Amino acid sequence: MVNLETPLSKFPTVKKAIFKKLHSLGLNKAQDLLYHFPFRYDDFSKTVAIREIMPEVPVTIHGRLQLLTNRRSFAARKMVTEGIIADEGGQIKAVWFNQPYLIKNLQVGDELYLAGKAELNKYGLQLVNPVYEKERKDGSTLNTGRLVPVYPTTSGLSQKQIRFLIKTSLDAATLLPEWLPAKIVKQFNFLPLAESLKEVHFPTGDKKFEQVKKRFQFEELFLIQLRNELWRQDLFKSGGAVNIKFQEEATRTFVEHLPFKLTTDQRSAAWEILQDLEKGRPMNRLLDGDVGSGKTVVAAMAILNTVVGGCQATLMAPTEILATQHYETFIRFFEGFPVRVGLLTSHLCKFAGGDSKKELLDKSKLGEIDLLVGTHALVQDKIKFKKLGLAIVDEQHRFGVEQRHKLQKKGRGTKVPHFLSMTATPIPRSYALSLYGDLDLSLIKHKPVGRKAIITKLVEEVDRGKAYDFIRRQIKTGRQVFVICPLIEEEEKSDKKSVMTEYKMRVGEKEDVIGKFLTREFDILVSTSVVEVGVDIPNASVMMIEGAEKFGLAQLHQFRGRVGRSEHQSYCLLFSKAVNQKTKQRLQYFVENSDGFALAEKDLEMRGPGEVFGTTQHGFPELKMADLSNLEMVKQSREVAKMILEEDPALAQNPLLKEKIKDWEKTVHLE
Ligand code: ADP
Ligand code: MG
Repeated sequence: MVNLETPLSKFPTVKKAIFKKLHSLGLNKAQDLLYHFPFRYDDFSKTVAIREIMPEVPVTIHGRLQLLTNRRSFAARKMVTEGIIADEGGQIKAVWFNQPYLIKNLQVGDELYLAGKAELNKYGLQLVNPVYEKERKDGSTLNTGRLVPVYPTTSGLSQKQIRFLIKTSLDAATLLPEWLPAKIVKQFNFLPLAESLKEVHFPTGDKKFEQVKKRFQFEELFLIQLRNELWRQDLFKSGGAVNIKFQEEATRTFVEHLPFKLTTDQRSAAWEILQDLEKGRPMNRLLDGDVGSGKTVVAAMAILNTVVGGCQATLMAPTEILATQHYETFIRFFEGFPVRVGLLTSHLCKFAGGDSKKELLDKSKLGEIDLLVGTHALVQDKIKFKKLGLAIVDEQHRFGVEQRHKLQKKGRGTKVPHFLSMTATPIPRSYALSLYGDLDLSLIKHKPVGRKAIITKLVEEVDRGKAYDFIRRQIKTGRQVFVICPLIEEEEKSDKKSVMTEYKMRVGEKEDVIGKFLTREFDILVSTSVVEVGVDIPNASVMMIEGAEKFGLAQLHQFRGRVGRSEHQSYCLLFSKAVNQKTKQRLQYFVENSDGFALAEKDLEMRGPGEVFGTTQHGFPELKMADLSNLEMVKQSREVAKMILEEDPALAQNPLLKEKIKDWEKTVHLE
């Protein structure tokens, strides 16, 4: 009998290789599987007659296998298994790629269910890679003939395997304690947890399924809100913020000495921030502006005021390259100003007059460094400040909430430092509120004038050669080129987690390569989405994107922002094999629009918030169920969270809830 703690390695079907894959998805024991939610459901609920099959519509059919053969397709370099299945009124061909073992599992004459989509080609309709299932004795099915859950997975671990494991684990669901306070369960009429879990994994009917979905959506939003509230409580009990007076004189001199004129948006953002610094409560502001909109100089003004006002500042960036770039930029900005800048990453340590890590740490502790720039290395316990007044996080979506909090907590002992995060991901106001509660927003909507627009083109496949010629010419004139390819093509691998694992593994190597590109050791940098981070390579003038349809508009816009950062005319070339009209329209919209906020809105409209904001790569917790655009539910969850904490601030009477938040925090953050 399975219990919550049963290790998955004890499951009879889980061999070592499979266990490794499960582990890589964060699945180690039965309990983990219960909350491994489907990211999609395919509606195979109606069995249709074979002659009624339409192209591209998911169906389940029931029939008898008439023929089954393996052949090698040299053109496609694949093993192809072909079968013919028939019911009373018709027959259809089914093809499977690279699954030659099917021949062993199935026999001519078997009664089967097949679920999948049919494609129309020159030989007629055929089912491609359908899920198959032999009829069971009791006539029930697990994988076909129903709303079929599709789970996040990784290559080599099939949906079938996962479904089977979850089915087995569900026996333990009744052992899972209800962690939602009884009051809430009652108020919202939620079904018991075990029953809800069963329904999520194996939906039985529309009404119940919808009701259960609500419960899990609520859970997620509620946890987000609780976490925000807890953090706020924590900050506020520590006695207000450092008070930083507006330094008019220094600010004016700084602005006068800039090599450019500040834009109106930069001015108002800076002004909003400087006003916040004077208030007795800690600032919590997000500075949101397109790539290249000039956020750094705004941050510099906040830093200057902080330092001249007698406090220290720190800025954390997601990569070593970016931190180094910031370090150099700030040294330039603060020439002639009393701001002593230091750089600290896991490998690097720099400051005027030295490179000893120990010395830098001492200086920071004694207040002899005014601005410490670095990577996540900054959050280590041994890094201390004398009087931290302002903590800044650049590309904030690249950090876990935990790390951001740790940085801000560096001010402990004195007062709470102000907090500024920066992002180039355009976040509509309502979403920011859902996620971050009482966050304030400053937007930089317009870029500095005089930038050349980036010429964007959707290149037809027939013109690929011309595009290459063009790239060659650009390189000849001394420019550099980015090429972006989508990471993984196959459906099975398209899961976010596996992308993330891969991403983590190669981070060091990657920085090294980008560094070499920066010093022009290469002309072309081919990569997956990693260049998204705000690295400045002004010499690059072409951004070529393969499989453009695989990316969201906001993401494409991030890529495009990697070029056009100098006086050279820059280009963004999109390649796409998509034939779908809607997809083409989406890309065309991108070609014609260069406003990041407009693109984000369009993205939302066309793909929905789940796809646009549902991934960790955009800095949002990985929401399995919740829909951030459901503002009503967001509001409700916030009210409930506040109510619970008002009655029970330390969650002493809700130990299960407290435990749940801890577990949940571990699963939703990157780091
Ligand atoms: P991002 O918002 O992407 O972080 P940066 O702060 O790196 O952008 O700024 C991009 C470039 O624009 C930098 O080289 C910066 O010096 C320059 N810049 C910033 N503000 C202005 C301005 N008002 N006019 C002209 N150039 C500017
Ligand atoms: Mg930046």
